[in-house]
Amino acid sequence: MIAGTSQSAAGVSATDAVVGRATRVTIDLGALRHNLSIARITAPRAKVMAAIKANGYGHGLERVATALQGADALGVACINEALALRTAGIEAPITLLEGFFRADEIPLLRAYRFEAVLHEASQVDALERSHFPGPVRVWIKVDTGMHRLGFAPGATRGTWRRLNALEGVEVVGFMTHLACADDRSHPATLRQLALFEESVEGLPGERAIANSAGVLGWPETHAEWIRPGVMLYGISPFLEGRGPETKLRPAMTLHSELIAVNHISKGEFVGYGGTWRAPEALPVGVVAIGYGDGYPRHAPSGTPVLVNGKQVPLIGRVSMDMITVDLRGQPQARVGDPVVLWGEGLPAEVIAERAGTIAYELLCGVTQRVRCEEVGADG
Ligand SMILES: *Cc1c(COP(=O)(O)O)cnc(C)c1O
Repeated sequence: MIAGTSQSAAGVSATDAVVGRATRVTIDLGALRHNLSIARITAPRAKVMAAIKANGYGHGLERVATALQGADALGVACINEALALRTAGIEAPITLLEGFFRADEIPLLRAYRFEAVLHEASQVDALERSHFPGPVRVWIKVDTGMHRLGFAPGATRGTWRRLNALEGVEVVGFMTHLACADDRSHPATLRQLALFEESVEGLPGERAIANSAGVLGWPETHAEWIRPGVMLYGISPFLEGRGPETKLRPAMTLHSELIAVNHISKGEFVGYGGTWRAPEALPVGVVAIGYGDGYPRHAPSGTPVLVNGKQVPLIGRVSMDMITVDLRGQPQARVGDPVVLWGEGLPAEVIAERAGTIAYELLCGVTQRVRCEEVGADG
């Protein structure tokens, strides 16, 4: 029998909590609250609909909803996320940013007080066909140039008239989504804004336009509501931006540790495919993190990794459970030393850029096996 797999003499069972691998994320609740306050200070007259879809951008849906109790509403992608929040006892107003997908969700909107953003004539048809005692609260999404979701500007008024005629429906207001606000000099943003204002002119209701990039970069888009997402997690929404430049604090830090330090000779290869070759004899650190944890496989040699708080370069390919780093800058490093992959001290934006993606994807992509710890509960 393999030692330790049964109720052994040591009295340890497989179900006992074991720390095991050091790989974990810490979620800083104080940073979430701080970043919300930055959104409020930046758009002081706007109400805040905090975007917490996709498991709170990977930070934990319930956890983020609880930490962001100061928001006026929570924005999620679908009813499943909204129901999970209600089941967890979250009472805040919740908006379904893509509305409903099927007519049988309509009674639930009312029962659980979910607001639905409508973007398609078929959703209006479904509301007209359904018989229910109101009220169901809806927003009308206008496509002002993103060309993803929304009614054409010319169809906005007609849609409003149809919805306004329905007894059980209350139109809260109008939304649009900015396509290029992450580029502070892109001309599309002001064009979208002008088209939106023209489409909804004179119609009653609130306006919601700005994502994080709109909040931080385009004050003219603030309106009655802002819809910050990524900035709440401490990430800059701008091209080549870094959260700390806008006083944001990273909410997620991905940690691990060195599990081996090997000394290799000049000319030896490291990792799958032998893509990195030692220019001289050097110490190679092995870190317990890989694409099986959500670390991007496309991160190339040279991507920074913090070992004992100091940057060293990733070398060779990222494996499922491990990466390798060049420890020439840290010859004293040993097994068990702490490693940070992104977060505090190393912006996720830097890693994303190296890996050819955006920080949003890294945050959402941390996998189930990575342990999660909360910090800053009362900080
Ligand atoms: C996700 C989302 C946001 C937030 O976007 P960020 O870029 O993360 O700030 C805002 N509005 C809608 C409709 C969204 O789906």
